Amino acid sequence: MAERVVIIGSGPAGWAAAIYTARANLEPLLIEGQQSQENFDLGRPPLGQLMITTEVENFPGFPAGNMEAYLQSAIDDSRKYMLPPHSGHGVSGPELMVLMQQQGVNFGTRVLSEDVVSVDLSSRPFKLTTSGGQTIEAHSVIVATGARANYLGLDSEKQFKNRGVSACAVCDGAMPRFRDRPLVVVGGGDSAMEEANFLTKFASKVYIVHRRDEFRASKIMAQRALENPKIEPAWNSVVEEVLGNDADGVTGVRLRSTVNENETTELEAAGYFAAIGHTPNTEFLGGQVETNSKGYIIWPVSHRTNTSVEGVFAAGDVADDHYRQAITAAGSGCMAALDAERWLAAQGIE
Ligand code: NAP
Repeated sequence: MAERVVIIGSGPAGWAAAIYTARANLEPLLIEGQQSQENFDLGRPPLGQLMITTEVENFPGFPAGNMEAYLQSAIDDSRKYMLPPHSGHGVSGPELMVLMQQQGVNFGTRVLSEDVVSVDLSSRPFKLTTSGGQTIEAHSVIVATGARANYLGLDSEKQFKNRGVSACAVCDGAMPRFRDRPLVVVGGGDSAMEEANFLTKFASKVYIVHRRDEFRASKIMAQRALENPKIEPAWNSVVEEVLGNDADGVTGVRLRSTVNENETTELEAAGYFAAIGHTPNTEFLGGQVETNSKGYIIWPVSHRTNTSVEGVFAAGDVADDHYRQAITAAGSGCMAALDAERWLAAQGIE
């Protein structure tokens, strides 16, 4: 029998949609993604990008404070293995996600730990094929698969991946190879500031390589980075090549000036962290849902989560290349749940 609602993705948008559809007695099935090395390497782990971040200071409802006792009482013992040690200061990304997952499961969401590898949206019920070889039929689908970090696309980035090249300081920054060594972060947005600040815990110095002479990041995060004595910006520069060798992995970067094309410099560094934006996880849709030029799903009607395919809704970063916050993703997950519920009711599927 076809599912009434299938939610694909398990970040804040997916779990908000699950909580709302579960409470509407739609018995949602949430396909959370596989716990595979590939998903982690690509930056799309189950429970989403907050699993690879540290403190979340801007999700309302979690002021600074020690929530150890709350976490211990709210989270089932079977899920506690996913919680890193509590910092004593507000909520961390993994803590927030495991709390959302627990809340969704408490209301009866069923969870499948596989990836959706392809879909057939040409007729209803829709058909979803999973990495485990299952075909799931669904009257409605909420796509909440998020986005993943970009790399510059240099051959040398690929060559030294996991040997000094990373797109996630929080995942990899504490590795011994980065301790007390200079490191490079590329980008000028909030992610670059966050990664650079985080890396100063371990590194002797962190260079932020940015192609302009002003950061794109929010004022408070840019200021925090610029005031950090271990951080040094390399303005008006792009990384032309990641330098290294087989024995040591990354040993530095070669930069080219964006104001004087003939000028190159080399920085010694044991690590290279890309923080230059994201790509939405829409490949499995096979072009059946309309997207914009960057691949983000389009909402054809303002303030509605409907997509170009009737019965398919989208929520979170997969449809939002503008705000991309945990709170906006969760908000649009709620909207998608309400839109799906109303659409199902209009079809007589309750
Ligand atoms: P972003 O804001 O799009 O910034 C990407 C940065 O990478 C920009 O500075 C851009 O340079 C640079 N860049 C892009 N392509 C490049 C290339 N090929 N070569 C060199 N540089 C390149 O992305 P983000 O920092 O990942 O942030 C995305 C969203 O998440 C934002 O809305 C941000 O506020 C949010 N975020 C929030 C937090 C937080 O509040 N704690 C933390 C992280 C992210 P230009 O500036 O020249 O375009």
